[in-house]
Formats: sequence, structure tokens, C-alpha cells
Amino acid sequence: MTQDQWGQLKQSMLRTVGENSFKNWIDPLQFHDMQDGVAVISVPTNFLGNYVSQNFSDMILHQFSQLDPTVRRLRFQVLSKDTQPRPARTTSAAAPTVPEAQTDSDLPGAPLDPRFTFDTFVVGKPNELAHAAARRVGKGEAVSFNPLFLYGGVGLGKTHLMHAIAWDLHINRPDLNVVYLSAEQFMYRFVQALRDRKMMDFKQLFRSVDVLMVDDVQFIAGKDSTQEEFFHTFNALVDQNKQIIISADRAPGEIKDLEERIKSRLQCGLVVDLHPTDYELRLGILQSKVDQHRKSYPELTIDPHVLEFLAHRISKNVRVLEGALTRLFAFASLIGRDITLEVAQDCLADILRASERKITVEEIQRKVAEHYNIRLSDMIGPKRLRTYARPRQIAMYLAKQMTSRSLPEIGRRFGGRDHTTVLHGVKRIEELKVQDGQIAEDLEMLRRALEA
Ligand code: ADP
Ligand code: MG
Repeated sequence: MTQDQWGQLKQSMLRTVGENSFKNWIDPLQFHDMQDGVAVISVPTNFLGNYVSQNFSDMILHQFSQLDPTVRRLRFQVLSKDTQPRPARTTSAAAPTVPEAQTDSDLPGAPLDPRFTFDTFVVGKPNELAHAAARRVGKGEAVSFNPLFLYGGVGLGKTHLMHAIAWDLHINRPDLNVVYLSAEQFMYRFVQALRDRKMMDFKQLFRSVDVLMVDDVQFIAGKDSTQEEFFHTFNALVDQNKQIIISADRAPGEIKDLEERIKSRLQCGLVVDLHPTDYELRLGILQSKVDQHRKSYPELTIDPHVLEFLAHRISKNVRVLEGALTRLFAFASLIGRDITLEVAQDCLADILRASERKITVEEIQRKVAEHYNIRLSDMIGPKRLRTYARPRQIAMYLAKQMTSRSLPEIGRRFGGRDHTTVLHGVKRIEELKVQDGQIAEDLEMLRRALEA
């Protein structure tokens, strides 16, 4: 491999990975030498070496083997001050490496997932604010809100955003000590320090951090001494104007068994929530994941209707959505078929069943009554005024559309009305939906609210 060939290789990497990634990751690499089929590549930092090895080594190795078939493996090495290369990581094509964390050994952080970056995070209405706030913090500029508190339901991307912040900080502010860990790990560390009588070390360690991220902080609710210590750590860092980023499954004020003073401290900065995904966001996420899967299964094609189907049917948790797609690709590849709606239904039957939304007629009635600002009792009661009758018909229509109840069953839940009354209501709304833009809009909004 000559330096000329290395230049060629870089050029084709530029075409493959795009300008941005190229500039960040590939351009800093230098070809060092070749040792027994191992191409040694020098990297400026361990961090970069790890990242490249986890994300680009297959591609680079492939390019190498095009130019020189004797290359079997890559090794990324950091050239230290005395210019003696030391191994950062070794990758071989035969044994794909498991993502491995890079953390300074004396820092208490947990591993970062190399897939959780801003590049792979799909932004939509439900998460745009959280994403924007995370991006800002990832720049590592002067602290403008402290803490950043991200909250939302399971699988909506809290951990993903926190890791993305950490990855960005590694690039933008390599001088900062960035520590990411779960509240559970914080507690574990704390208990261990107590047991080993190393509380001073523990305190010093956490107070020397520049950016502290604690994931799933609801975990420490009800754990008094851990809370206490967390509170002190938190205050010490805020006093030094160090950035703190916290996540939880609910808003600070709603975490039970969390001390009041902690709640109010947590509310001091910027509190943003990740809303439940909407259809468009789910579709966007699926599309981006398909692009990733295509690299592993270039032979498979996927019917676009499958993505729409999954985005409709799996609505709660992005993790489940991703899992479904992963399974689908593996399954289709095993049986050697393209991914059609039929294959999807077959392969994902259990997931689809589990995520079937069981919306009740009562929920629909409540939402609709709330939306039109009428009392639930008036919606169900006998009054025939248009103010009540129209919302009632809308609720009937939605009940027919969104539940598996029959017309008589729905009628019973509307104060014992006859099924013909329900049918009439449903028909009426079907007509109005076409004629009246406001009604169509209301229906769409209610449906979304109910599906969320
Ligand atoms: P949480 O911590 O909120 O429970 P995670 O951050 O672990 O959720 O996300 C669950 C999975 O869904 C992860 O694999 C993550 O990459 C993925 N995910 C969630 N939101 C998005 C998004 N907006 N774009 C891409 N992937 C996402
Ligand atoms: Mg999480």
C-alpha cells in the first residue's frame, strides 16, 4: 500500500460516507504501515480510533482489500508523544467487534452507544424541542440552562439524546470531563463508596466532572441517602457552573418520593418533554433504520406499505418499532423472500398483537366531551340540543372506527341508545367529514390524541 493508494482509498471513503463524516472521522486517519496482513492506521486520539473502528472499519477494510488483497485486518493506533504507536483497537473482518466503551478508567461513567448520535436521531414535531436543547448543550458553550431536564415515556429517545450530547461534547470540547451514567449506577457507586469507606474519593470524583449526565433519575426516588448525596453533588456542580443533564420518565414535580428540594432544584433549568411519537415521526424513524439495514441486507427489498403499516400499528415505543424491523430483515433474509405486507404480518404477529391499542368507548367519550367542552353526562344523557348531539355523534363515529365494539354495544354505552341511532350518527359524521373542514380537522385531532 503506497501513500498514493491511501489517497485513493480516502477518496472513495469520501464518496461513501459523505463530506461531513469524512471530515470528522476519515480525514484525520494516516496510513502507518503494513505488518503481516494488518494495516496499521494511526489516529490522533483513542476516542477517534474507537469511533472509526466501530463505525467505519468494515468499509475501510473493504476498500483496502480492493487495493491490496493481502490485507486481513486493520489496527488503529494512537501515536503518543514519544511517537511510539500503542494499540487503540484491533478489528478483524472475521470477528466483528462488539461496541466497546471508551472511558477514562478513573472516571465513573458508563459506556456510550456508538449508534446513539445526532446523525441517527430522527427529528419530528414530538421531539424537536428536546432535540434542539440537546444540540445546544452538545456544543459545550457557556451554560445557559442548568440542568437540562429531559423527560418522556419509555423508548422515546431520552438515552439516545444524552449519548448524542456526550459524543458531540467529545468532539467539540475534548477538554471537558464528560460523565454519563444511570441513576442506578450512581447509587451503586455511592453504596460501594460507603462500604469501602471511600466517601471522600467519591465526592471528589463527582465534583471534578465538567458535564454530568444522570439517566433515569426517577430511580433514586424513595432512596433517601442516595438522594441526599445526589443533591449535594448536584449543588456542588451547579455552583461551579458545570452543566448537568438529567432524564426521567416524568416531569420533576411528578416523581413520587423525591424530596421537594430536589424537585425544585431540577425545575430550575430547562425542562423539556419528549412527546409520544406521531405517525410521521415513526415513519421517518423506520425509513432511516431501513437505510441502515440495507447495508447489511443489500439483496432484500421492502414494500413501502410495510413501513406505513408498522408506523400505524406499533405506536408507543420506538424500541419495539426498531426491534420489529430488525427481526423482519433477519427473517426475510433467512427465508429468502422480499419484505411484503404478508411477510411482515406473519413474522411480527406477536408484536402486533401486543401493541394493539385497546381504546375504550369511555376514553373516546371523555376526550370528545373535553374537546367540545361539554359534560360527560350530557354526552351520554338524553339531551338533543345540537351542542350535545354533534359531539355525541362524533364520539359514536370514533368508537366505531377505533374500537371493535358492535353498534348495539356502542349504543349501550351511550345511555342505552338503539343501534340504529348509532348507525345514523356514524353515517352523519361520515357525510360531514367530507363537507365540513372543521369537523374533519376535529376528527383528526381527536384521533391523534386518542392514539397517543
Ligand atoms: P428512552 O431512554 O427514552 O427509554 P432510548 O433513547 O433508549 O429511549 O430509545 C429507544 C430506542 O429507540 C433506541 O434504539 C433509539 O435509538 C431509538 N430512538 C428513539 N427515538 C428515536 C429517534 N427520534 N430517531 C431515531 N431513533 C430513535
Ligand atoms: Mg433510557
